[in-house]
Amino acid sequence: MSAFHREKVLSVRHWTDTLFSFTATRDSGFRFQNGQFAMIGLEVDGRPLMRAYSMASANHEESLEFFSIKVADGPLTSKLQKIKEGDTILVGRKATGTLIADNLIPGKRLLLLSTGTGLAPFASLIKDPDVYDRFETIVLVHGCRQVSELAYGEDLVAKLKDDEFFGPLLAEKLLYYPTVTREPFRNRGRITDLITSQQLFDDIGQSPLDLANDRIMMCGSPAMLEELRQMLEARGFLEGSHSESGHFVIEKAFVER
Ligand SMILES: Cc1cc2nc3c(=O)[nH]c(=O)nc-3n(C[C@H](O)[C@H](O)[C@H](O)COP(=O)(O)OP(=O)(O)OC[C@H]3O[C@@H](n4cnc5c(N)ncnc54)[C@H](O)[C@@H]3O)c2cc1C
Repeated sequence: MSAFHREKVLSVRHWTDTLFSFTATRDSGFRFQNGQFAMIGLEVDGRPLMRAYSMASANHEESLEFFSIKVADGPLTSKLQKIKEGDTILVGRKATGTLIADNLIPGKRLLLLSTGTGLAPFASLIKDPDVYDRFETIVLVHGCRQVSELAYGEDLVAKLKDDEFFGPLLAEKLLYYPTVTREPFRNRGRITDLITSQQLFDDIGQSPLDLANDRIMMCGSPAMLEELRQMLEARGFLEGSHSESGHFVIEKAFVER
């Protein structure tokens, strides 16, 4: 048995010259927990060229969705960005990852902190009814450099707000906070600064960060994650894992090579 499922691309949407998303068929045997990632890729010269990708679709959905960077000289994404409907992609059989609700101690408010394509696992998690059961409030923060880079997230949230099932859940529980660092926008600044200064909480009309009630998942650049980890640990938050649940969990959105 091959280590990969061969799936057909169903749709591709380019959001900016550096970001695109695509959907693909899903093998009925491919199981995952919302927030997890798998190895996906293309067959190049008869060999699989694979990279880690978070599923942006939820596990109750029939097809798979991914939200991807385009790295001009990236071995995979220089090719992947050219895929079209009907093309074949490879999807690893095994999903894994730490951004799952079971790795968190129960709490009241869930902060989903992301930059760039780090939004992808949270696109899956905000389509998980169980997450709305576990938390009273979910705050989805997406930081980007430019306003145009927010488009995938804005579209996702807008569609879910219109959804018959998720619309009422989002209205009751989800606070969406897009923020930009390099252009004028209604919310501006880096996530760490917005938390430290309490600007984020003032803007959404919520109480400041609090160890007793807040649980955090974060996915973004390695530098942003390290800064957030240090800030949280200084406030007594403990990192969770599969072996022991904690106040926060981390997944890198990519690895610096
Ligand atoms: C756990 C995990 C989950 C991931 N999930 C996703 C995902 O959902 N979507 C996604 O696009 N990528 C994701 N990645 C990154 C992905 O695995 C690849 O690195 C990416 O697709 C680029 O592949 P490449 O072969 O073209 O270039 P690579 O050789 O892999 O990367 C080249 C360089 O590009 C930069 N880079 C790579 N990926 C990103 C990114 N996503 N954002 C900003 N800069 C980047 C880094 O500086 C890296 O050193 C994930 C990585 C990890 C570890």
